[in-house]
Amino acid sequence: MPIPIVILNPTVGYKVPQILYAFRQRPSEFNLEEIKARLRDIRKYSIERLDLLIQRLKDVLHERYPEVELIHADDAKDVVKVLKRICDQHKKVSINKSNTVEQLRELLIQEGFEIDEAYYREFEGFIPTKGRRSYWQMLRGVTFEAKWRSFVSTPFSWDGERSTEGKEGEVVLLGVSAISAEDGTVFFTEHSRNITRGLSEASHVVLLVGLEKIVRNREDALFQARCTGSFGFEAISSELNLQSVEQDLSIGRRRLGSNTRVYVILIDDGRKAVRERDDFKELLYCIGCRTCNAVCPLSYTHEAYEGPRFWLKRFNEAFKGARGLGETWVCTTCRSCEVHCPLEIRHANHAVNMRKHLVKEGRGPLPPHARFGKSVKENRNPYLEPHEKRFAWLKERLPQRAKMIYFVGCTACYRQHSIAESTVKIFKSLGLNFSILGQEEWCCGSPLIRTGQWDIALEVAKHNVDVINNSGVELVITSCAGCYITLSRDYDEVFNLKIIPKVLHTAELLHPLLEEGKLKFTKELNMVVTYHDPCHLSRSRAAFLPERERPKVYEPPRAVLEAIPRIKFVEMPRNRDEGWCCGAGGGVKAAFAETAVRTALERVKEAEEVKAQALITACPFCVRNLQDATREYDRPIEVLDLTEIITRLL
Ligand code: SF4
Ligand code: SF4
Ligand code: SF4
Repeated sequence: MPIPIVILNPTVGYKVPQILYAFRQRPSEFNLEEIKARLRDIRKYSIERLDLLIQRLKDVLHERYPEVELIHADDAKDVVKVLKRICDQHKKVSINKSNTVEQLRELLIQEGFEIDEAYYREFEGFIPTKGRRSYWQMLRGVTFEAKWRSFVSTPFSWDGERSTEGKEGEVVLLGVSAISAEDGTVFFTEHSRNITRGLSEASHVVLLVGLEKIVRNREDALFQARCTGSFGFEAISSELNLQSVEQDLSIGRRRLGSNTRVYVILIDDGRKAVRERDDFKELLYCIGCRTCNAVCPLSYTHEAYEGPRFWLKRFNEAFKGARGLGETWVCTTCRSCEVHCPLEIRHANHAVNMRKHLVKEGRGPLPPHARFGKSVKENRNPYLEPHEKRFAWLKERLPQRAKMIYFVGCTACYRQHSIAESTVKIFKSLGLNFSILGQEEWCCGSPLIRTGQWDIALEVAKHNVDVINNSGVELVITSCAGCYITLSRDYDEVFNLKIIPKVLHTAELLHPLLEEGKLKFTKELNMVVTYHDPCHLSRSRAAFLPERERPKVYEPPRAVLEAIPRIKFVEMPRNRDEGWCCGAGGGVKAAFAETAVRTALERVKEAEEVKAQALITACPFCVRNLQDATREYDRPIEVLDLTEIITRLL
């Protein structure tokens, strides 16, 4: 009996409007949360019973498909050895674009293989000239349920007569989307034209199975494979269920070549090591749907970055000594990937934990990070500025003691004075009784935590926590999103140090004051403005909580802006959870300055496209990077902090 191979074939064509129309017409009968829950169950079962499933799959392949050569590969080198044996002299191999195969590409090239890759570039029409209007963004508003209903299957089989002859010496290497341990059914979520020629014409078909792709049974494998496409939104067309797949399989519409040899390679390559680590285990839940890459700003703006979906490569680089491109450092920790991932995999946490490990081993941080780390140690700020000048901008006298502290932060103190000055001016105009920590305010440690320099971060965290907790204040206010997330979340989550007073962002303080009528705007501002959500005020809040339970500061800054007389507030297409990170965080601005500004430029363009005259945000570091973009690329739009625009009305 032949090994059953099913290709879930999205039938996306070239006609975008018809596709969108078709999406919108379909009735909705699926619940996204239920689908995610079922997918999580499948992945959990798969990872927790990995050894059992591997054994079951081996037994099934051995008993039912003895003609299949089953191979275990510890790593990529083992796969290459197999390919060398199969290819003999030719060293030519056709591949698909699965994650598992992609991670072999570099080695294959190094070993002199010629790679042939059929890829149906169906989305190029969706990604016109500007990276911003991606396929995924165009499909916003299209129900997930509609996408879910949209595969046709293309089964492969040896049943019936074998009419074609496999071309001698032709080898295809195909990463599978899922495989059933119960009966060995192989699923690909793939445009069938990417791989059908290879499957029907090659004399050697090598099916590459990442260990995490083995699932309990055919039904789970079908479900997982459909999710792979649906979360990447690649699927359009008719319905598909297990019965229809089984019916298709029994008909056996397509056939492998008559002399085709089939190999199944089970590749570990670090997967079992990941499973042993509680802090990284969830990475194995990944189904390779690519949604994360599609929404990762750095995947668009940093050419050498392969995106979050290649997590295994980076894990191996950090923990197994594999050579890499240092991609672990190319992530702003914005968590855009995370809110879109069907398994809510926390890539930002993993990037930070890998960085921490690299720093501990002396293999990191990158030199610019080390420079600002040293500066924090010596000067209590990352900008290589003298500590005693921290409050040089402050011209007013503030009380020594008060119930409320304004924690200013390094960027506002040393680089964006106007935000610090504006915050003080607003608080004073509201008659708030507040003070500052003065020389006792040290860098919050945010850039150190995100670049894995936790020893120095701990030192500053301990100091700030001690000073704040011993000051008797009841409220800590900051206008910096980075300080906010660090004081309110990271000290506790990362170092188990808790700031006793409540920590609020200025926007959160002002919003209720506005509602109570204490903050009033008497002047008008005839201007069109839009708002950029700093990731540390939005997606990053309480990262340890499940995504949907996190408190996010989305409405307060908007409410304040909208209350300004005559102002016209417009949203950019990507806002709140879908906001585009400015590109500066996570040490990216220090180490990859051009990438940071290029990423910010995308945001600036988006603001211009909604005809905003000013781009408002609520973080000095965002302001800085967005202003750098307007300066370097000569864009007329004004970039302001929320506090700065309010000050204009006082
Ligand atoms: S956290 Fe942001 S920058 Fe980092 S991988 Fe995810 S989307 Fe990309
Ligand atoms: S990390 Fe999540 S979004 Fe990214 S490929 Fe894996 S499952 Fe898909
Ligand atoms: S500066 Fe702002 S948008 Fe940029 S990474 Fe930091 S919080 Fe996110």
